[in-house]
Amino acid sequence: MHFTYDALPGRVVFGAGAARTELAAEIDRLGATRVLLIASERDAGRVRIITDPLAGRVAATFTAVREHVPVATADAARAAAVGADAVLCIGGGSTIGAAKAVALTTRLPIVAVPTTYAGSEVTPIWGLSEDGVKTTGVDLAVLPRTVVYDPELTATLPPELAAASALNAMAHCVEAFWAPRRNPVSSVLAEEGVRVLAAGLRDGDPADLLRGAYLAGTAFAAAGSGLHHKLAHVLGGLGLPHARTHATVLPHVLAFNAAGSPEATTRIARALGCADAVAGLRALTDAAGVPRGLRELGLRADQLDEVAARTEAVVPADNPVPVGGGALRRLVQLAWEGAGWEGAAGPTASASSPAVADAPTR
Ligand code: NAD
Repeated sequence: MHFTYDALPGRVVFGAGAARTELAAEIDRLGATRVLLIASERDAGRVRIITDPLAGRVAATFTAVREHVPVATADAARAAAVGADAVLCIGGGSTIGAAKAVALTTRLPIVAVPTTYAGSEVTPIWGLSEDGVKTTGVDLAVLPRTVVYDPELTATLPPELAAASALNAMAHCVEAFWAPRRNPVSSVLAEEGVRVLAAGLRDGDPADLLRGAYLAGTAFAAAGSGLHHKLAHVLGGLGLPHARTHATVLPHVLAFNAAGSPEATTRIARALGCADAVAGLRALTDAAGVPRGLRELGLRADQLDEVAARTEAVVPADNPVPVGGGALRRLVQLAWEGAGWEGAAGPTASASSPAVADAPTR
Protein backbone atom coordinates (compact mmCIF):
# COMPACT_ATOMS: atom_id res chain seq x y z
CA MET A 1 0.00 0.00 0.00
CA HIS A 2 1.22 3.49 -0.78
CA PHE A 3 -0.53 6.77 0.06
CA THR A 4 0.05 10.36 1.08
CA TYR A 5 -2.03 12.24 3.61
CA ASP A 6 -1.60 15.87 4.66
CA ALA A 7 -2.92 16.15 8.20
CA LEU A 8 -4.17 19.69 8.77
CA PRO A 9 -3.61 21.68 11.96
CA GLY A 10 -6.52 23.15 13.89
CA ARG A 11 -8.10 23.07 17.33
CA VAL A 12 -11.68 21.86 17.77
CA VAL A 13 -13.89 22.68 20.74
CA PHE A 14 -17.23 20.85 20.66
CA GLY A 15 -20.16 21.08 23.04
CA ALA A 16 -23.66 22.40 23.59
CA GLY A 17 -23.33 26.00 24.76
CA ALA A 18 -19.59 26.13 23.92
CA ALA A 19 -19.98 29.26 21.79
CA ARG A 20 -21.35 31.16 24.80
CA THR A 21 -19.03 29.73 27.43
CA GLU A 22 -15.71 29.01 25.72
CA LEU A 23 -15.20 31.55 22.98
CA ALA A 24 -13.54 34.21 25.14
CA ALA A 25 -10.96 31.71 26.42
CA GLU A 26 -10.28 30.52 22.86
CA ILE A 27 -9.65 34.05 21.68
CA ASP A 28 -7.36 34.68 24.65
CA ARG A 29 -5.53 31.48 23.75
CA LEU A 30 -4.60 33.08 20.42
CA GLY A 31 -3.45 36.23 22.23
CA ALA A 32 -5.97 38.31 20.27
CA THR A 33 -7.34 41.55 21.71
CA ARG A 34 -8.77 43.40 18.65
CA VAL A 35 -11.10 41.01 16.88
CA LEU A 36 -12.99 41.62 13.64
CA LEU A 37 -16.38 39.93 14.05
CA ILE A 38 -17.98 38.68 10.82
CA ALA A 39 -21.61 37.60 11.06
CA SER A 40 -24.64 38.16 8.85
CA GLU A 41 -27.02 40.95 9.90
CA ARG A 42 -29.73 38.26 9.81
CA ASP A 43 -28.08 36.51 12.77
CA ALA A 44 -27.55 39.64 14.88
CA GLY A 45 -29.73 38.51 17.80
CA ARG A 46 -28.07 35.11 18.17
CA VAL A 47 -24.61 36.55 17.65
CA ARG A 48 -25.04 39.19 20.37
CA ILE A 49 -25.67 36.49 22.99
CA ILE A 50 -22.50 34.68 21.92
CA THR A 51 -20.28 37.74 21.75
CA ASP A 52 -21.41 39.48 24.95
CA PRO A 53 -18.77 37.65 27.03
CA LEU A 54 -16.04 38.93 24.69
CA ALA A 55 -16.47 42.37 26.25
CA GLY A 56 -14.04 44.87 24.70
CA ARG A 57 -12.26 42.40 22.43
CA VAL A 58 -14.50 43.04 19.38
CA ALA A 59 -12.89 46.00 17.61
CA ALA A 60 -15.08 46.00 14.48
CA THR A 61 -18.04 44.15 13.01
CA PHE A 62 -18.72 43.23 9.38
CA THR A 63 -22.26 42.09 8.56
CA ALA A 64 -22.62 42.46 4.75
CA VAL A 65 -22.10 38.73 4.13
CA ARG A 66 -23.07 37.44 0.67
CA GLU A 67 -23.09 33.89 -0.74
CA HIS A 68 -19.99 32.89 -2.76
CA VAL A 69 -18.04 35.95 -1.46
CA PRO A 70 -18.27 38.54 -4.24
CA VAL A 71 -14.94 40.37 -4.68
CA ALA A 72 -16.59 43.59 -3.49
CA THR A 73 -17.63 41.82 -0.26
CA ALA A 74 -14.08 40.58 0.25
CA ASP A 75 -12.69 44.11 -0.27
CA ALA A 76 -15.15 45.60 2.23
CA ALA A 77 -14.41 42.91 4.84
CA ARG A 78 -10.67 43.47 4.41
CA ALA A 79 -11.14 47.19 4.92
CA ALA A 80 -13.02 46.46 8.15
CA ALA A 81 -10.08 44.31 9.32
CA VAL A 82 -7.59 47.19 9.47
CA GLY A 83 -6.17 47.21 13.01
CA ALA A 84 -7.59 43.78 13.92
CA ASP A 85 -5.39 40.94 15.18
CA ALA A 86 -7.86 38.07 14.58
CA VAL A 87 -11.10 37.31 12.75
CA LEU A 88 -14.06 35.70 14.48
CA CYS A 89 -16.76 34.41 12.14
CA ILE A 90 -20.13 33.12 13.30
CA GLY A 91 -22.36 31.71 10.57
CA GLY A 92 -22.62 29.33 7.63
CA GLY A 93 -20.23 28.75 4.76
CA SER A 94 -20.86 32.22 3.33
CA THR A 95 -19.81 33.92 6.56
CA ILE A 96 -16.77 31.68 6.97
CA GLY A 97 -15.96 32.41 3.32
CA ALA A 98 -15.83 36.14 4.06
CA ALA A 99 -13.42 35.48 6.96
CA LYS A 100 -11.26 33.35 4.67
CA ALA A 101 -11.12 36.19 2.13
CA VAL A 102 -9.80 38.46 4.88
CA ALA A 103 -7.21 35.90 6.05
CA LEU A 104 -6.08 35.30 2.48
CA THR A 105 -4.62 38.79 2.19
CA THR A 106 -4.06 39.78 5.84
CA ARG A 107 -2.88 36.37 7.20
CA LEU A 108 -4.93 37.05 10.35
CA PRO A 109 -5.90 33.92 12.35
CA ILE A 110 -9.56 32.83 12.16
CA VAL A 111 -11.76 31.54 14.95
CA ALA A 112 -14.82 29.94 13.32
CA VAL A 113 -18.18 29.19 14.88
CA PRO A 114 -20.16 27.31 12.19
CA THR A 115 -23.95 27.45 12.21
CA THR A 116 -24.54 25.05 9.28
CA TYR A 117 -23.10 21.69 8.27
CA ALA A 118 -21.22 22.87 5.13
CA GLY A 119 -17.77 22.11 6.57
CA SER A 120 -15.79 25.09 5.29
CA GLU A 121 -14.37 25.69 8.78
CA VAL A 122 -12.01 22.71 8.47
CA THR A 123 -10.77 23.25 4.91
CA PRO A 124 -7.97 25.49 3.60
CA ILE A 125 -10.10 26.27 0.52
CA TRP A 126 -11.14 29.86 -0.22
CA GLY A 127 -13.58 31.06 -2.86
CA LEU A 128 -14.32 34.41 -4.48
CA SER A 129 -16.88 35.26 -7.14
CA GLU A 130 -17.00 37.94 -9.81
CA ASP A 131 -19.34 38.33 -12.79
CA GLY A 132 -20.96 34.93 -12.15
CA VAL A 133 -17.65 33.06 -12.10
CA LYS A 134 -16.38 31.52 -8.87
CA THR A 135 -12.65 31.10 -8.35
CA THR A 136 -11.31 28.84 -5.62
CA GLY A 137 -7.84 28.24 -4.26
CA VAL A 138 -6.01 26.58 -1.40
CA ASP A 139 -4.01 28.44 1.22
CA LEU A 140 -3.27 27.22 4.75
CA ALA A 141 -3.65 30.80 6.02
CA VAL A 142 -7.43 30.58 5.52
CA LEU A 143 -7.81 27.40 7.58
CA PRO A 144 -9.36 28.48 10.89
CA ARG A 145 -6.97 28.06 13.84
CA THR A 146 -9.84 27.21 16.17
CA VAL A 147 -13.34 25.90 15.47
CA VAL A 148 -16.01 26.06 18.15
CA TYR A 149 -18.84 23.63 17.34
CA ASP A 150 -22.00 24.33 19.29
CA PRO A 151 -25.07 22.23 18.40
CA GLU A 152 -27.32 24.81 20.06
CA LEU A 153 -26.55 27.11 17.13
CA THR A 154 -27.51 24.73 14.31
CA ALA A 155 -30.71 23.82 16.17
CA THR A 156 -32.25 27.05 14.77
CA LEU A 157 -31.82 26.03 11.13
CA PRO A 158 -35.17 25.63 9.36
CA PRO A 159 -35.70 21.83 8.94
CA GLU A 160 -35.49 21.89 5.15
CA LEU A 161 -32.18 23.82 5.20
CA ALA A 162 -30.82 21.65 8.02
CA ALA A 163 -31.46 18.50 5.97
CA ALA A 164 -29.99 19.99 2.80
CA SER A 165 -26.92 21.20 4.68
CA ALA A 166 -26.45 17.79 6.32
CA LEU A 167 -26.64 16.21 2.85
CA ASN A 168 -24.05 18.74 1.65
CA ALA A 169 -21.84 17.24 4.37
CA MET A 170 -22.88 13.74 3.27
CA ALA A 171 -21.63 14.64 -0.23
CA HIS A 172 -18.17 15.39 1.20
CA CYS A 173 -18.14 11.87 2.68
CA VAL A 174 -19.49 10.05 -0.38
CA GLU A 175 -17.07 11.80 -2.73
CA ALA A 176 -14.10 11.18 -0.42
CA PHE A 177 -14.07 7.53 -1.58
CA TRP A 178 -13.15 8.44 -5.15
CA ALA A 179 -11.76 12.00 -4.93
CA PRO A 180 -8.22 12.60 -6.22
CA ARG A 181 -6.36 12.60 -2.87
CA ARG A 182 -8.40 9.78 -1.24
CA ASN A 183 -6.43 7.74 1.24
CA PRO A 184 -7.16 5.23 4.03
CA VAL A 185 -7.43 8.00 6.65
CA SER A 186 -9.94 10.13 4.72
CA SER A 187 -11.96 6.98 3.96
CA VAL A 188 -12.26 6.15 7.67
CA LEU A 189 -13.42 9.70 8.38
CA ALA A 190 -15.86 9.52 5.46
CA GLU A 191 -17.42 6.22 6.45
CA GLU A 192 -17.91 7.34 10.04
CA GLY A 193 -19.23 10.66 8.71
CA VAL A 194 -21.89 8.87 6.62
CA ARG A 195 -22.90 6.85 9.68
CA VAL A 196 -23.19 9.83 12.03
CA LEU A 197 -24.90 12.09 9.47
CA ALA A 198 -27.45 9.41 8.61
CA ALA A 199 -28.18 8.96 12.32
CA GLY A 200 -28.59 12.73 12.67
CA LEU A 201 -30.89 12.95 9.65
CA ARG A 202 -33.09 10.25 11.19
CA ASP A 203 -33.10 11.43 14.80
CA GLY A 204 -32.86 15.17 14.06
CA ASP A 205 -30.17 15.59 16.74
CA PRO A 206 -28.03 18.66 15.85
CA ALA A 207 -25.10 17.21 17.85
CA ASP A 208 -24.98 14.14 15.57
CA LEU A 209 -25.25 16.32 12.49
CA LEU A 210 -22.55 18.74 13.64
CA ARG A 211 -20.16 15.93 14.57
CA GLY A 212 -20.85 14.40 11.16
CA ALA A 213 -20.21 17.77 9.52
CA TYR A 214 -16.79 17.94 11.18
CA LEU A 215 -15.88 14.42 9.97
CA ALA A 216 -17.20 15.24 6.50
CA GLY A 217 -15.34 18.53 6.16
CA THR A 218 -12.14 16.88 7.35
CA ALA A 219 -12.52 14.02 4.87
CA PHE A 220 -13.23 16.51 2.07
CA ALA A 221 -10.20 18.65 2.98
CA ALA A 222 -7.98 15.57 2.80
CA ALA A 223 -9.45 13.86 -0.28
CA GLY A 224 -10.36 16.85 -2.48
CA SER A 225 -13.03 17.44 -5.12
CA GLY A 226 -14.27 14.90 -7.61
CA LEU A 227 -17.16 14.69 -10.06
CA HIS A 228 -19.85 15.62 -7.52
CA HIS A 229 -18.17 18.79 -6.25
CA LYS A 230 -17.10 19.83 -9.76
CA LEU A 231 -20.70 19.55 -10.95
CA ALA A 232 -22.08 21.34 -7.86
CA HIS A 233 -19.49 24.10 -8.33
CA VAL A 234 -20.62 24.74 -11.92
CA LEU A 235 -24.27 24.77 -10.78
CA GLY A 236 -23.44 27.16 -7.92
CA GLY A 237 -21.83 29.52 -10.41
CA LEU A 238 -25.17 29.59 -12.29
CA GLY A 239 -26.87 30.80 -9.11
CA LEU A 240 -28.34 27.58 -7.72
CA PRO A 241 -28.52 27.38 -3.91
CA HIS A 242 -25.45 25.66 -2.45
CA ALA A 243 -26.76 23.10 0.06
CA ARG A 244 -29.94 22.15 -1.82
CA THR A 245 -27.98 21.64 -5.04
CA HIS A 246 -25.56 19.25 -3.31
CA ALA A 247 -28.46 17.37 -1.74
CA THR A 248 -30.31 17.01 -5.06
CA VAL A 249 -27.30 16.01 -7.16
CA LEU A 250 -25.69 13.54 -4.73
CA PRO A 251 -27.88 10.43 -5.30
CA HIS A 252 -27.50 10.88 -9.06
CA VAL A 253 -23.70 11.07 -8.88
CA LEU A 254 -23.50 8.08 -6.53
CA ALA A 255 -25.72 6.07 -8.90
CA PHE A 256 -23.46 7.12 -11.81
CA ASN A 257 -20.17 6.24 -10.09
CA ALA A 258 -21.40 3.17 -8.18
CA ALA A 259 -20.46 0.61 -10.83
CA GLY A 260 -16.83 1.75 -10.81
CA SER A 261 -16.36 2.22 -7.08
CA PRO A 262 -17.08 -0.93 -5.09
CA GLU A 263 -15.24 0.47 -2.05
CA ALA A 264 -17.60 3.45 -1.99
CA THR A 265 -20.76 1.40 -2.36
CA THR A 266 -19.70 -1.22 0.20
CA ARG A 267 -18.63 1.27 2.84
CA ILE A 268 -21.54 3.68 2.27
CA ALA A 269 -24.06 0.82 2.45
CA ARG A 270 -22.41 -0.44 5.65
CA ALA A 271 -22.53 3.04 7.18
CA LEU A 272 -26.16 3.52 6.15
CA GLY A 273 -27.03 0.08 7.50
CA CYS A 274 -28.57 -1.13 4.24
CA ALA A 275 -27.78 -3.53 1.41
CA ASP A 276 -27.62 -1.05 -1.45
CA ALA A 277 -25.82 2.30 -1.09
CA VAL A 278 -27.72 4.05 -3.90
CA ALA A 279 -31.16 2.93 -2.71
CA GLY A 280 -30.21 3.78 0.88
CA LEU A 281 -29.09 7.29 -0.02
CA ARG A 282 -32.19 7.87 -2.15
CA ALA A 283 -34.40 6.75 0.71
CA LEU A 284 -32.62 9.24 2.95
CA THR A 285 -32.97 12.19 0.55
CA ASP A 286 -36.62 11.33 -0.16
CA ALA A 287 -37.36 11.14 3.55
CA ALA A 288 -35.74 14.58 3.95
CA GLY A 289 -37.99 16.00 1.22
CA VAL A 290 -35.08 16.85 -1.09
CA PRO A 291 -36.15 17.58 -4.68
CA ARG A 292 -35.21 14.73 -6.99
CA GLY A 293 -34.38 16.96 -9.94
CA LEU A 294 -32.50 20.20 -10.55
CA ARG A 295 -35.38 21.61 -12.55
CA GLU A 296 -37.14 22.03 -9.21
CA LEU A 297 -34.27 24.32 -8.16
CA GLY A 298 -34.71 26.55 -11.20
CA LEU A 299 -32.14 25.12 -13.61
CA ARG A 300 -33.38 25.43 -17.21
CA ALA A 301 -33.24 22.72 -19.90
CA ASP A 302 -31.29 25.07 -22.18
CA GLN A 303 -28.48 25.24 -19.59
CA LEU A 304 -27.77 21.51 -19.48
CA ASP A 305 -25.27 21.37 -22.36
CA GLU A 306 -23.24 24.17 -20.79
CA VAL A 307 -23.33 22.50 -17.35
CA ALA A 308 -22.13 19.19 -18.80
CA ALA A 309 -19.39 20.78 -20.93
CA ARG A 310 -18.03 22.95 -18.11
CA THR A 311 -18.06 20.03 -15.67
CA GLU A 312 -16.50 17.54 -18.08
CA ALA A 313 -13.55 19.87 -18.56
CA VAL A 314 -12.64 19.69 -14.86
CA VAL A 315 -13.62 16.15 -13.75
CA PRO A 316 -10.54 14.26 -12.45
CA ALA A 317 -9.18 11.83 -15.04
CA ASP A 318 -9.48 8.88 -12.65
CA ASN A 319 -13.21 9.26 -11.95
CA PRO A 320 -14.35 5.66 -11.34
CA VAL A 321 -16.70 5.73 -14.35
CA PRO A 322 -15.62 7.46 -17.60
CA VAL A 323 -17.53 10.70 -18.21
CA GLY A 324 -16.81 10.97 -21.96
CA GLY A 325 -18.88 9.94 -24.94
CA GLY A 326 -21.98 11.74 -23.69
CA ALA A 327 -22.07 9.90 -20.33
CA LEU A 328 -21.79 13.08 -18.26
CA ARG A 329 -24.44 14.80 -20.38
CA ARG A 330 -26.77 11.87 -19.65
CA LEU A 331 -26.02 12.16 -15.92
CA VAL A 332 -26.86 15.88 -16.04
CA GLN A 333 -30.11 15.08 -17.86
CA LEU A 334 -31.13 12.53 -15.20
CA ALA A 335 -30.17 14.92 -12.40
CA TRP A 336 -32.27 17.65 -14.02
CA GLU A 337 -35.32 15.47 -14.63
CA GLY A 338 -35.05 13.72 -11.28
CA ALA A 339 -35.16 10.46 -13.18
CA GLY A 340 -33.48 7.16 -12.39
CA TRP A 341 -35.54 6.47 -9.29
CA GLU A 342 -37.52 3.70 -11.00
CA GLY A 343 -38.19 0.97 -8.52
CA ALA A 344 -37.28 3.22 -5.61
CA ALA A 345 -39.75 4.40 -3.01
CA GLY A 346 -41.01 7.94 -2.96
CA PRO A 347 -41.55 9.95 0.20
CA THR A 348 -45.07 8.61 0.51
CA ALA A 349 -44.41 5.06 -0.66
CA SER A 350 -45.78 2.17 1.33
CA ALA A 351 -43.58 0.34 3.83
CA SER A 352 -43.46 -2.73 1.59
CA SER A 353 -42.02 -0.93 -1.44
CA PRO A 354 -38.47 -1.88 -2.51
CA ALA A 355 -36.54 1.21 -1.38
CA VAL A 356 -38.17 1.31 2.02
CA ALA A 357 -37.28 -2.35 2.45
CA ASP A 358 -33.73 -1.30 1.57
CA ALA A 359 -33.78 1.86 3.64
CA PRO A 360 -31.31 2.44 6.43
CA THR A 361 -32.20 0.56 9.58
CA ARG A 362 -30.04 2.39 12.11
P1 NAD B 1 -24.94 30.00 3.98
O1 NAD B 1 -23.81 30.32 4.85
O2 NAD B 1 -25.08 30.81 2.72
O3 NAD B 1 -26.28 30.06 4.82
C1 NAD B 1 -27.52 29.76 4.21
C2 NAD B 1 -28.64 30.51 4.90
O4 NAD B 1 -28.85 29.97 6.20
C3 NAD B 1 -28.35 31.98 5.12
O5 NAD B 1 -29.53 32.68 4.84
C4 NAD B 1 -28.00 32.06 6.60
O6 NAD B 1 -28.29 33.33 7.16
C5 NAD B 1 -28.89 30.99 7.18
N1 NAD B 1 -28.39 30.37 8.40
C6 NAD B 1 -27.13 29.95 8.65
N2 NAD B 1 -27.07 29.39 9.86
C7 NAD B 1 -28.30 29.46 10.41
C8 NAD B 1 -28.87 29.01 11.64
N3 NAD B 1 -28.13 28.35 12.54
N4 NAD B 1 -30.18 29.23 11.86
C9 NAD B 1 -30.95 29.84 10.93
N5 NAD B 1 -30.47 30.28 9.74
C10 NAD B 1 -29.16 30.08 9.47
O7 NAD B 1 -24.95 28.46 3.51
P2 NAD B 1 -23.89 27.28 3.63
O8 NAD B 1 -24.49 26.18 2.86
O9 NAD B 1 -23.46 27.07 5.01
O10 NAD B 1 -22.61 27.83 2.87
C11 NAD B 1 -22.57 27.97 1.47
C12 NAD B 1 -21.31 28.68 1.03
O11 NAD B 1 -20.16 28.09 1.67
C13 NAD B 1 -21.08 28.57 -0.46
O12 NAD B 1 -20.55 29.78 -0.94
C14 NAD B 1 -20.03 27.47 -0.56
O13 NAD B 1 -19.26 27.54 -1.73
C15 NAD B 1 -19.22 27.70 0.68
N6 NAD B 1 -18.50 26.51 1.16
C16 NAD B 1 -17.15 26.53 1.13
C17 NAD B 1 -16.44 25.43 1.55
C18 NAD B 1 -14.95 25.48 1.56
O14 NAD B 1 -14.31 24.51 1.94
N7 NAD B 1 -14.35 26.59 1.17
C19 NAD B 1 -17.10 24.28 2.01
C20 NAD B 1 -18.50 24.30 2.04
C21 NAD B 1 -19.20 25.42 1.60
